[in-house]
Amino acid sequence: MPRHSSEEIALDRLPKAKLNRESLLDTLALARYVRPYRPRFVVGLASLFFSAACGLAFPFLAGSLIDAAMRPGGTTLQFLGVLPLSQVALILAGIVSLQALASFNSALAFNRVGQSALADLRRECYQRLIALPMAFFGQRRIGELTSRVSTDIAQIEGALVDALPQMCRQSVFLIGGVTLIAITSGQLTAVMLGTLPILIAAAVFFGRRLRRFSRETQDQLAATNTIVEETLQAIASVKAFANEAFEVRRYETSNARVLAAALSAARWRAVFVAFFILALFGGIVIVLWFGARLLQQGEISPGELTRFVLYSTFVAGAMGQAAELFSQIQKTVGATQRVRELLREPTETETDAARGGHVTTLPARLRGEVAFVGVNFRYPARPEVPVLRNLSLAAQPGERIALVGPSGAGKSTLTALLLRFYDPESGRLLIDGRDARDYPLTWLRGQMAIVPQDVLLFGGTIAENIAYGRPGADAHAIREAAQLANADDFIRGFPEGYATLVGDRGIKLSGGQRQRVAIARAILKNPAILILDEATSSLDSESEAQVQLALDRLMQGRTTFIVAHRLATVRNANRIAVIDAGQVVELGTHEELSARAEGLYRRLSALQFGPTPADAPGRP
Ligand code: ATP
Repeated sequence: MPRHSSEEIALDRLPKAKLNRESLLDTLALARYVRPYRPRFVVGLASLFFSAACGLAFPFLAGSLIDAAMRPGGTTLQFLGVLPLSQVALILAGIVSLQALASFNSALAFNRVGQSALADLRRECYQRLIALPMAFFGQRRIGELTSRVSTDIAQIEGALVDALPQMCRQSVFLIGGVTLIAITSGQLTAVMLGTLPILIAAAVFFGRRLRRFSRETQDQLAATNTIVEETLQAIASVKAFANEAFEVRRYETSNARVLAAALSAARWRAVFVAFFILALFGGIVIVLWFGARLLQQGEISPGELTRFVLYSTFVAGAMGQAAELFSQIQKTVGATQRVRELLREPTETETDAARGGHVTTLPARLRGEVAFVGVNFRYPARPEVPVLRNLSLAAQPGERIALVGPSGAGKSTLTALLLRFYDPESGRLLIDGRDARDYPLTWLRGQMAIVPQDVLLFGGTIAENIAYGRPGADAHAIREAAQLANADDFIRGFPEGYATLVGDRGIKLSGGQRQRVAIARAILKNPAILILDEATSSLDSESEAQVQLALDRLMQGRTTFIVAHRLATVRNANRIAVIDAGQVVELGTHEELSARAEGLYRRLSALQFGPTPADAPGRP
């Protein structure tokens, strides 16, 4: 099957796993994905064996053809009696046609089964991946995860569609070929099989060395790819700093290391290839020599010698493929283990359900009372750094609480806990007076909405992007939400209105427009609890006023936590919580906090928002 070249490279570099009972069982567990397509799989397997059997019949009939040519009366074929040359040729043509038909059948069946099974596996992997807890993502590199759903699965696909049928076919050729030669001449078989231990020993010896160098090449290549990934992600910074040359040099250095490692591996590979060819063809030469002597002595016919030679090439071919197939199996076992590891990770909802004890009758809607009580928290990825320390903060239903404080104080972490991306290490998060863990996770998140700092729009229309807040919402509801979010006007200003494509291949929205789309999303979701992570980048004053108005409408009747960077929202909040080093150090209204001469809020607001009224000239 044709593969993308970069994918081919990635597949080449896949680490191989040790073959042991456990890893093989892991791989066999994949059979589960083939099970739904079992009838077709069996058809594929049967066709494959039939086609291999036809393949084995070929040298036999080819030999008979030559014998028929040498003898005027034709040749004797078992079961069929004496046949003339043309009839043998006809049988041979028939066998070849049958073989082609069976090969078509088996290739089609294996591909269909393989592709369908892999589509299921891919879907299951993605489904699981996306449902894993935040802590999982914090501890892994995204590149590693995407490679599991692409490269590892492509490797498994290759194994199912190519390697498995190859293995069956070559086994038939190997066993069948050896048996058929053995029936006619034990001596010849012994000669042929004599080369086998030498080949195996060489494969093990060279394989070890090759693997070491391949691993080195692979590591270096991964490092090189990281540079490409990083620089493309931050391409604007690379260009703004005019650092193209610097990055190219960095890449060159890394690339040179890949080359050096690959060249070392190449030398061993070349020696290995040369040795293999010598051993394989050497074996054939010996068989040919032996066979020719038997022919000379009149012990075998020319046709039989032809059979020997053809069977020997079959056997040699099968042996030659064995090393490659073995390495394919090793890679597949490795890929399977990594994929199965992912499939074994418990999802958030599984952990949540296992914990149990959820409230049995859920209200239609939360009132929106939120209380953090003595919460301590550290990120699982950085357990040595306490982020929230005995933090307590309560919000009444419908209250607006602004979270302010120095960078890294823990404001966003607080909202992450509210969304239950993580659970407190100790202390409690109470929602409507109950522990947040008492509510089913998905239901709880359904009661909340977030308007993030960086609004991510998905490739699709504006309408689809708004409907992300409530999948399945009708056009009327979408329009209404957009109107409340002050987004209707600018959306209708586009020639295609709500059907305008956004993102990569569509219109790029401005910061303020994106935010209003996010607000419309949140309005559509109609949450009881709202999290606003204000954008740090300032909007122009008209845009700012529009966004502010939309936010005011959105916040109506919802408990809102605002990670605040702008004075306007801070002022509009009912209370302001000043967070410093993971604790609430001040709590009160803007006026109350501004009046504290030595307060952190007063200092921060002077720095971030300009002088507060309390600082303004003419005020005491
Ligand atoms: P800012 O105003 O700059 O956004 P913040 O007050 O929102 O800051 P947080 O993002 O909550 O701060 O971060 C608090 C601390 O937790 C910081 O020291 C930060 O480095 C750390 N932190 C944040 N996210 C993670 C994470 N996913 N894994 C590990 N540590 C993290």
